[in-house]
Amino acid sequence: MEHFSLYEACHPVKPALTKGRNLFAKPDQREKNTMKIAAAKESSALEARVALVPDTVKKFVAAGITVAVEKGAGLAAGIADSAFEAAGATVAASAVEAYKGADIVLCVDTPDEAGIAAIPEGAILVGMMNPLDPKTDFSALNKRSIHAYAMEFLPRISRAQSMDVLSSQSNLAGYRAVIEAVAATSKTVPMMMTAAGTIPPAKALVLGVGVAGLQAIATAKRLGAVVSAFDVRSATKEQAQSLGAKFIEVAASADAETSGGYAKEMDEDYKKRQAEALAAVIATQDIVISTALIPGKPAPELITEAMVASMKAGSVIVDLAAANGGNYKGTKKDDIVKTANGVTILGYTNMPSRAASDASPLYARNLQTFVMTLMFDKDARGLKVQSDDELIKGTLVTKGGSVVHPALVK
Ligand code: NAD
Repeated sequence: MEHFSLYEACHPVKPALTKGRNLFAKPDQREKNTMKIAAAKESSALEARVALVPDTVKKFVAAGITVAVEKGAGLAAGIADSAFEAAGATVAASAVEAYKGADIVLCVDTPDEAGIAAIPEGAILVGMMNPLDPKTDFSALNKRSIHAYAMEFLPRISRAQSMDVLSSQSNLAGYRAVIEAVAATSKTVPMMMTAAGTIPPAKALVLGVGVAGLQAIATAKRLGAVVSAFDVRSATKEQAQSLGAKFIEVAASADAETSGGYAKEMDEDYKKRQAEALAAVIATQDIVISTALIPGKPAPELITEAMVASMKAGSVIVDLAAANGGNYKGTKKDDIVKTANGVTILGYTNMPSRAASDASPLYARNLQTFVMTLMFDKDARGLKVQSDDELIKGTLVTKGGSVVHPALVK
């Protein structure tokens, strides 16, 4: 029979922590965890994701890091407190308790003011911060001298792929957009041949063939829709076609792609020809998923009032660009619009959150890789930020009470 001291009985050590350690040593003789990571329940009611999941907790704990999670933080993403505890995290009664003594706080979206006030002064915050939105205010972070790292700014180099939250989340947004569209229409998607007659397949159009658009094409195709797609970047033609979509071509006089692989804003002549090509197709569609974005600029207007008016009653537009102004100007952010001719327009900005049970593990793994690769010293088992690394320099937005990112400093 094993004998535990009173200390051990009051401080049960989880299996991941016990590896290679002398459990019977007095507390002051044991290895100390030198770093603490914490996450709380997200402050926005529209956010179901969580920045830590049991799998990442296990990895942090195995590396000798102490982890705390606010009670109920994972429930909306299908993760019970007991799963966090089993992975080795402490479940704290509040965000204030969870953040106490934390070196690094992980978040999905920037915490509200009360949440930021609970983060230890000078601590690190890693998450999505909507840094290019003019309405984003960094003053609460600066008041606490938080070192904030905005994952949206992560340079998209190959070494950073496993940390790329935009890709991991956009992929699920594209999938979920199709699911939401299908749920909002009364049209059946696959073709069905029955004794009572044949149901034709639904027609789906995907505008913008980036990460979200490609997954939207693949999902609509898997459900049996006849899919068309359009993007200004010519490289997307082959990608869309390889997933079984018909590509709508609009000839461009100049290259529409930046060296970073993003779209450029197009000239007026191109926009006119693009509108003509899209107008003819949109009128026949049951589902339109629009994902077109230009980094740092309002979303391009691809769907006009006249195009919506030409659509059939019962058809659905999912405007994934809603957070950036929408690809249709009539889209209402986080709302549903029903037009007089019976078209439904979904403007949800929390699409990855609607797939929170899978979006959270992917997001949490992105953050875990970022932290373990760039902020942790394995030998010293402590915090060590590689300040000269381009991924660290590229994401750091506030430090020492000021906004420091070149894209934000005027
Ligand atoms: P995004 O979210 O910025 O934009 C979505 C799509 O909208 C893009 O394909 C863009 O070309 C398109 N678009 C913009 N204006 C348009 C218009 N007027 N009409 C039609 N379409 C328009 O893009 P994203 O999904 O983040 O991906 C952008 C690029 O980055 C892609 O080339 C992708 O392959 C690349 N990428 C690279 C990495 C990497 O690690 N190297 C990771 C992810 C993405």
